[in-house]
Amino acid sequence: MLSNETTTENDEFKFLANADWKTQLKHLITTPEQLQSFLYLTEKQVHEIRRASKLFPMAITPYYASLIDPNDVRCPIRAQAVPTIQETQIGSADIEDPLAEDHDSPVPGITHRYPDRVLLLVSQMCAMFCRHCTRKRSVGDDDHSPSKEMLKNAIQYIRESPQVRDVLISGGDPFLLSTKRLDWILTELHAIEHVEVVRIGTRTPVVLPQRIDDELVDMLKKHHPVWVNTHFNHPREITPQSKAALRKLADAGIPLGNQSVLLRDVNDCPLIMQNLVHRLVQNRVRPYYMYQCDLSRGIEHFRTSVSKGIEIMEMLIGHTSGFAVPTYVVDAPGGGGKIPLTPQYLISMGTRKVVLRNYEGVICLYSEPPHKEVTCPPDCEYCDKLTPGESKHKVPESRWAPDVGVGKLFDDSNDVIAIVPENLERAQRREDSATNIDDEVR
Ligand SMILES: *Cc1c(COP(=O)(O)O)cnc(C)c1O
Ligand code: SF4
Repeated sequence: MLSNETTTENDEFKFLANADWKTQLKHLITTPEQLQSFLYLTEKQVHEIRRASKLFPMAITPYYASLIDPNDVRCPIRAQAVPTIQETQIGSADIEDPLAEDHDSPVPGITHRYPDRVLLLVSQMCAMFCRHCTRKRSVGDDDHSPSKEMLKNAIQYIRESPQVRDVLISGGDPFLLSTKRLDWILTELHAIEHVEVVRIGTRTPVVLPQRIDDELVDMLKKHHPVWVNTHFNHPREITPQSKAALRKLADAGIPLGNQSVLLRDVNDCPLIMQNLVHRLVQNRVRPYYMYQCDLSRGIEHFRTSVSKGIEIMEMLIGHTSGFAVPTYVVDAPGGGGKIPLTPQYLISMGTRKVVLRNYEGVICLYSEPPHKEVTCPPDCEYCDKLTPGESKHKVPESRWAPDVGVGKLFDDSNDVIAIVPENLERAQRREDSATNIDDEVR
């Protein structure tokens, strides 16, 4: 039986979880005592939460807190929201500013890493402080949120950089600014002729979907083309409330993307990721990036191996809609930018034959076009293919190098174009529809 007191607290909590965004921000959960009104915590856990939140404060919106399963200590929502003692441990490979964002900053508030686009940091505040945040060292410190003067300077830099055609507004969370302040930023950017597109990165659809209100989308609509990228990590974050937020944005003509981070014990499983991307496209959100966890301090316990990421990609590519497949990226330590990784599909490349494999394990032959230009160093003496004295730079097809290695699987003596695993599902389907796969491949 719940005591009367707990019931009252629970009612208030339920009310807050659906309150408007400003009310929720006034009632952020920032202490273990507040957590205890709906979550059982041991004395040790209370102590550990206090210690960890000295390094990076705790702040959870009532809405996101209401998604925590109080009976599941490994709840993926809880793992992203409630501090643990592991955050106080410094990993062997941790780096203070792993992406060297400070180094690539020509003026405060701007990171200019790629030729034609910049990151514009407009706020240090977030609705919720994600425990896995890569910008832990700067996020949460509202005193260092950029002033209007600083923003003016940053925008001036963009104005003076004609190569910048794409501005990525990030933070912190840009949607924690007032709609009016955001309107001003977008108006300034819109007035710059060479700025062709603006993107906003925000986690509010996930942690504070009530922020996506009519006032906000009506304002955003005035500044098209505006793209919004959000940050769903787990299918359980797709709720009626977050769906409503996504619907509002999509209905306003805003193309939506999602950037997930691979997190240990949260979403590091092909089945969870597959479910997530399906829920996303169902809500008109295109999975954009799946990030390998950065080397930021205090998040080592969230890191997964790169092989896990490849395993997930292996299970997505070909197995589901192409537009549901994100690009798996490692943000290069030291500021090298995002590096895409994918399973290997290219098996071998000879003069005439490219051997590939598909998602089903089928190995197939792509023949290079006969007009492919093959050249040799002039007057080379290492092969006797050319008659002495002949110094043709371009080698006729009849004299191309022989197939080696797996290229030999597709020998000229037969006309095999694919090697197919036994009991292939696709072959089964063709058999059912009476066109034998063997008619085309052997
Ligand atoms: C990710 C990022 C961008 C945008 O990169 P895209 O691949 O175009 O999404 C721009 N600047 C910085 C510093 C970034 O980290
Ligand atoms: S919303 Fe983004 S910037 Fe803010 S705490 Fe979460 S991961 Fe960090």
